[in-house]
Amino acid sequence: MKAVFVKKEGGVEVRDVDIPKIREGELLVKMKACGIDGTDLEKAFGKPVTPPMLGHEVVGEVVESRSPKFKVGDRVFVHHHVFCGKCYYCYRGNYTMCPLFLKTTIDPCGLAEFFRVPKTNVQRGGVLKLPSNLDWDEATFIEPAACVLKALRRIGFQAGDTVSLIGVGPTGSLFIKLLKNFGATLISVSDLSDFRLEIAKKIGADITVNPSQADFVELCKKATDGIGVDIGILGTPTMKPLQTLLQIVRKGGKICIFGAPEKGEEAKLDFSYLFINEISIITSYSTSEVEITTILELMKNRRISFNEIITHKYKLSDAEEAFETARNASRSLKVVIENE
Ligand SMILES: [Zn+2]
Ligand SMILES: [Zn+2]
Repeated sequence: MKAVFVKKEGGVEVRDVDIPKIREGELLVKMKACGIDGTDLEKAFGKPVTPPMLGHEVVGEVVESRSPKFKVGDRVFVHHHVFCGKCYYCYRGNYTMCPLFLKTTIDPCGLAEFFRVPKTNVQRGGVLKLPSNLDWDEATFIEPAACVLKALRRIGFQAGDTVSLIGVGPTGSLFIKLLKNFGATLISVSDLSDFRLEIAKKIGADITVNPSQADFVELCKKATDGIGVDIGILGTPTMKPLQTLLQIVRKGGKICIFGAPEKGEEAKLDFSYLFINEISIITSYSTSEVEITTILELMKNRRISFNEIITHKYKLSDAEEAFETARNASRSLKVVIENE
């Protein structure tokens, strides 16, 4: 079968590998659709801090089951990471910090014709049946949308908050969708790609700014009567725009670091400014079934939909081209890979 891997010299390649054999308690799933996200691009082209497996926004059909919980033909979402529920971190609600979390994965990866789901993932609730009204492509948004929901919860977002977002890539666009749905009173976004800003406007951003053409800080200040926004979200892997967000966020406001920074990424911070203005900086990494089940309910009940964020679909054998398209912010947003 075909599966996609990161090449030593960078980039990705499609390789022929054996279909994994499953053991007691495990599932073999035929991939139906899988989203490419920022961390996949970082694995392929950058200096990643996340594990090397490609494709974690994956849905598919069970083709072999050795678990009583699932049968052949079940349409499922599979989460590659699960938490133990009984360690120091889990007891305190930091599920993505659980030691089990990064040890769990799917085999060989989500960007494969078939993949094996280990017993731990099946047992710990990492496999969820998809409602019949959700198509394969849209279901790939379950994981990234859950990551966004977790970030909004960590930062304490409330209806009525004003928000500025730097970077409206695929995940930034999900922020717009959820913020609009949850009652943000202002969503202002900045990105260097006019293509992406155009879509941002369509899906609900109130102010869209290309910082090479207009002053994002000034426009956000003006829109909030000079006060600044309640929440700033950094959706880029680089920390450079952090300085911009610090000028936009109000006293007592919060900044969420969401885009996965590259290894060793540093930023200069004026701590006296943070201190006297009580500005909090909060990071958010990944998601767990806590948010995934909520997102699934929201999607099932048609409270939210994400299909307009998809700009390209590729077959698995064209993964190389798909990755090149996905990294080109000037002409793509969400790229989804489908099975042959
Ligand atoms: Zn745990
Ligand atoms: Zn993701």
